[in-house]
Amino acid sequence: MSTQREAGRTTHRVLILGAGYAGMAAAVQLAARVRRREDVQVTLVNAQERFTERLRLHMTATGQRVAELSIPELLDGTGAQFVRGWVTAVDADAKIVRIDDDRVLPYDTLVYGLGSAADMAAVPGVEDHAYTLNSAQDAELLAARLAQLGSGTVVVGGSGLTGVESAAEIAERHPELNVVLLGRGEPGAAMNPKAKAYLQAALRRLGVQARSGVEVVKVLPDSVELASGESIAAEVVLWTSGTRVSPLAAAAGLTVDERGRVVTDAALRSVSHPDVYAVGDAAAIRQGYGVMHGTCQGGMPTGVHAAVSIVRTLAGKQPKPFRFGFYHTPVSLGRHDAVVQFTRPDDSPRRVCLTGRLAARYKETVTASPWPTYGRMKKMPASGAFWPHGGRFTREAR
Ligand SMILES: Cc1cc2nc3c(=O)[nH]c(=O)nc-3n(C[C@H](O)[C@H](O)[C@H](O)COP(=O)(O)OP(=O)(O)OC[C@H]3O[C@@H](n4cnc5c(N)ncnc54)[C@H](O)[C@@H]3O)c2cc1C
Repeated sequence: MSTQREAGRTTHRVLILGAGYAGMAAAVQLAARVRRREDVQVTLVNAQERFTERLRLHMTATGQRVAELSIPELLDGTGAQFVRGWVTAVDADAKIVRIDDDRVLPYDTLVYGLGSAADMAAVPGVEDHAYTLNSAQDAELLAARLAQLGSGTVVVGGSGLTGVESAAEIAERHPELNVVLLGRGEPGAAMNPKAKAYLQAALRRLGVQARSGVEVVKVLPDSVELASGESIAAEVVLWTSGTRVSPLAAAAGLTVDERGRVVTDAALRSVSHPDVYAVGDAAAIRQGYGVMHGTCQGGMPTGVHAAVSIVRTLAGKQPKPFRFGFYHTPVSLGRHDAVVQFTRPDDSPRRVCLTGRLAARYKETVTASPWPTYGRMKKMPASGAFWPHGGRFTREAR
């Protein structure tokens, strides 16, 4: 591994891009493991100082207060540095990262964790007329609009889990509004029949009109147009469908998949640039069951694994392969109801599910857990290094 030689001593600079669920896990885990080493410098770069709990953005979008979590405060005492800034370019050959205020940050090892966002380019008009949950600021804009509406229709585009959670939350918080959930698939399509039926009944109880088998082809200032030619009037459109990742990895010449995610080897290193690790939603990580889809449950382990691999490599050892098996899909249905589908490691549904208030408590526990987990990892890094490895589903993945 290359290092920077300064005044007779060498420092290995690890730069982590993105302080989402995965990047935070990487930064805290790595900083805790190298705290006593003066020859390793850990720097975390993120657009904001405040940690965005994406799992709560549908709450923010309905005017609910969520905790202010400060990334620099969490890193305090770990030895890791925090840089606030917007990454504008990665030069993977020169091993530098450019920030929007003209700063240039050199690295020896890069951890790429810039996450993902709703795909706003897929349908004309989304960019100009739809709201998203891509950031806390976007969610706050939606909250302000919903609060002043009084009456009318909110169309939620995309019947995936973010769409379901958002539609339920808006209907519960704003019973004065009509909420229409539109998507190709049925809400809860990937769940077992009992969980799916529960989820759909909960949406009906909240007054959400869910329409599946429909394709939104255009978003206009006051309506959406469907492929069938039908037009649905809407005061507000929230777009949750599809995901896209930052174009920076592809522009840097890293090997990416068809969705722009960094293709990794078994140890989470870029297949084209092994001094770059990719974690979370921004990475295309292959397991025995296929390429992992982006979640917080899988993203945090990728960050921890990248950190452990960097420490192993610095010690002259080989990093171990990453293995991860999914175990649950918790979906909130407003604040007092939820459904938790337990899954096999390949994310297919098991027969077991939780519903109702117990499920709502389970979901809240899961949602609240990342931040305390980072806090514990500062003192006991091994406490964050447990997750299901997926057994036969992930064995001999490649
Ligand atoms: C409403 C909602 C509910 C969800 N519920 C669940 C759930 O229940 N369970 C689950 O497992 N997953 C859930 N997800 C998905 C989950 O949030 C993502 O999979 C997870 O956030 C991915 O983590 P990450 O660290 O890869 O990226 P992110 O959490 O997106 O973090 C990326 C970070 O990088 C920063 N960044 C991006 N670009 C730049 C740049 N150019 N310069 C500087 N900083 C940059 C961003 O500001 C952000 O801080 C939900 C998502 C949403 C939107």
